[in-house]
Amino acid sequence: MIINIHLDAPPETLGQVADSLAQANIRARQTQFGGRTVIVTESNLDEKTCTTLLKMQAVESIVEILDPYPLCSLQTRPQRTTIRIRDFAVGPNDFSIIAGPCTVESEKQVLTTAEQVKAAGAKALRGGAFKPRTSPYAFQGLKLEGLKILQKVSRETGLVTVTEAMSSEEVKMVSEYADVVQIGTRNAQNYRLLETCGEARVPILLKRGFSNSLDEFLMAAEYILAGGNEQVILCERGIRTFETYVRYTLPAGAVPALKLTSHLPVIVDPSHAAGRADLVASLSYASVASGADGLLVEVHPDPKHALCDGRQSLTPDEFSKMVRICEGIRKAVGC
Ligand code: PEP
Ligand code: MN
Repeated sequence: MIINIHLDAPPETLGQVADSLAQANIRARQTQFGGRTVIVTESNLDEKTCTTLLKMQAVESIVEILDPYPLCSLQTRPQRTTIRIRDFAVGPNDFSIIAGPCTVESEKQVLTTAEQVKAAGAKALRGGAFKPRTSPYAFQGLKLEGLKILQKVSRETGLVTVTEAMSSEEVKMVSEYADVVQIGTRNAQNYRLLETCGEARVPILLKRGFSNSLDEFLMAAEYILAGGNEQVILCERGIRTFETYVRYTLPAGAVPALKLTSHLPVIVDPSHAAGRADLVASLSYASVASGADGLLVEVHPDPKHALCDGRQSLTPDEFSKMVRICEGIRKAVGC
């Protein structure tokens, strides 16, 4: 349940609410949501406690939310959330594409890619500086130097930047240099890291854990919202199945299901799902048709020589062609 506190409630009146919950043996967490203080309870309140609370000066209303992730629930915000940074926006009336190399390799590589994806219609630039690699011997990213390159290219092109953080320290570093912090599939249930994202005041792009159910995915997002950061973009990037033809399996139903359940914007990463460039366009078209609020696509000026994920990277020309078709699909399905 969510207890909505009056906007002008004096802080000392909140103690009464806490006392009453403690008396009823109800654990609860206070946070900020929609510009006001809310208290989210772990379990439902009985009628007597509700009546007592509603008589208190601090309490405006008490809402029963049926989902286990009350702050992410569509029931809590039927008008849905839009994440907006300069020209970049994802939400019910805004579609944006984030594109760029898997990893930042050099200033020249990032700038060339940024200019080309921007010309094709991308609104944000991606590129990993801290790379979660399966092998410890594989290229681990340029780290701080990579963040500086992203920031420089962002200033030159005006593109918003998205890049991954793998630890709480990296979340702090990334938020100083980039616009959006990405939490990758391998860390999607790293709860300490998600808590740091909740304390951050920059948007978080949260990927679905590759073995997570949609409920687990939304619970991970709930950690960030519970910490007071409502700016979360959900990113479906495929899950592990018995299929080996593709790197991961992209569930066609994920976008509509998430949008039926949550007010958060949902984007799709077709690149890591496919694992091969020749399937990226098709998966993007399917995602757009299913109502995705945006895409995250890997693009490299020279995929054959990419330091990471070249096999699944589109060339700028392939990307540009794909974006034009996506625009047509959006019009056709009326989203
Ligand atoms: C990435 O976006 O570069 C990445 C590593 O993605 P994922 O966490 O989805 O594998
Ligand atoms: Mn990658």
